[in-house]
Amino acid sequence: MQFHKPNADVFAPDGLDITAALARTTHLCIAAHQDDIEIMAYHGIAECFGSKEKWFTGVVVTNGAGSPRSGIYGDYTDEEMQRVRVVEQRKAAYIGEYACQIQLGFTSSEVKTPPATAVAADLTQILRAARPEIVYLHNPADKHDTHVGVTLRAIAALRAVRDEAAPKKVYGCEVWRDLDWLLDEDKQVLPVSARSNVAAALVGVFDSQVTGGKRYDLATAGRRLAHATYYASHGTDVETALTFAMDLTPLVQDPSLSVLDYTLGLVDRFRNDVARRLG
Ligand SMILES: [Zn+2]
Repeated sequence: MQFHKPNADVFAPDGLDITAALARTTHLCIAAHQDDIEIMAYHGIAECFGSKEKWFTGVVVTNGAGSPRSGIYGDYTDEEMQRVRVVEQRKAAYIGEYACQIQLGFTSSEVKTPPATAVAADLTQILRAARPEIVYLHNPADKHDTHVGVTLRAIAALRAVRDEAAPKKVYGCEVWRDLDWLLDEDKQVLPVSARSNVAAALVGVFDSQVTGGKRYDLATAGRRLAHATYYASHGTDVETALTFAMDLTPLVQDPSLSVLDYTLGLVDRFRNDVARRLG
């Protein structure tokens, strides 16, 4: 399998070749940056952990350039830092027992500038080989433009292969903006209480990101706990950790559906709910 960027990195923790590693994939996450997968798609990682039938594959589209550097990484060049981030992502794949971890190595601007045919072509290739049942993307209302760019490229790729590799479910997940604002009936509620030790290790292994004072490890666990606590005001919590997702499956099943209109439709439902309660 040939990807567009010479720095593309492929890692199967158990040493399988990429074709075999991808073929066993049932759950696939396509994310922008190193560590996004572990924040947004722990639901899929946990579903597959220790299973012989279910396998999780992670795809990181960008190269990690421009990362903040502090502490022991303070005098690293941008290129050295990119290598650190690739290794950290491999560590997460090992801890999470992923089927395969692919890092495509594109720049942010290559991802954000349409039509980004090289990005879409690499993603199409992966989707054809993996044929996942469940797909995790960034949600289109995320406030990080590279996240939104990756989601748009991934939806284009999913639409391109939908006749041969249509997933049952496509989730738009939380990183830079959570989805508590979705109406409860619009929320995809994903339980993530299982193995909080593994969940903590998966975010904690990205030392270069946490070391600058951004406690993604604590914040991610905190958001999951807050969602579980505030999801329903009555009754006791069965789950101690939840993540929320937007259902993006209709966008793949119906390519004529505009991502913008679909997302704003959900925003309008939130707006109407606020207006009804105040009115
Ligand atoms: Zn990110």
